[in-house]
Amino acid sequence: MITNIDHLGIAVSSIDAALGYYEKALGLKCAHREEVPSQKVRTAFIPCGQVNIELLEPTSPDSTVAKFLEKNPNGGIHHIAFATNDITGQLAQSKDAGVRLINEVPVDGAHEKLVAFLHPKSTFGVLTELCMGKPGAAH
Ligand code: ZN
Repeated sequence: MITNIDHLGIAVSSIDAALGYYEKALGLKCAHREEVPSQKVRTAFIPCGQVNIELLEPTSPDSTVAKFLEKNPNGGIHHIAFATNDITGQLAQSKDAGVRLINEVPVDGAHEKLVAFLHPKSTFGVLTELCMGKPGAAH
């Protein structure tokens, strides 16, 4: 079951530059920075109420975020992430409904979470992430 929107992923060419905007212009605070090798990105999490902003900066030219920035040089909203309490079941439900999966099985994401992506061709243009805290993780 999907429980809430966990975060919005926003592609940026420089997290340091983008944080200036979020912290100085909006007055939000970065809570956590982390590199995620499975996605070839550096991330910064900025809590905003129940939802986080996840800034994504590519660490490699073949990162999907690098490709997104080639098409959108100013950056932009890259994905929406839904929290689920059963990521395997949610993937199966989406697959049964005819959705194309990018990850057939969950992979390690930021914040000690398991994540899996649904293909934007099946989700009306929005790259969609499912995420779930690992059992026993702090979050
Ligand atoms: Zn994400």
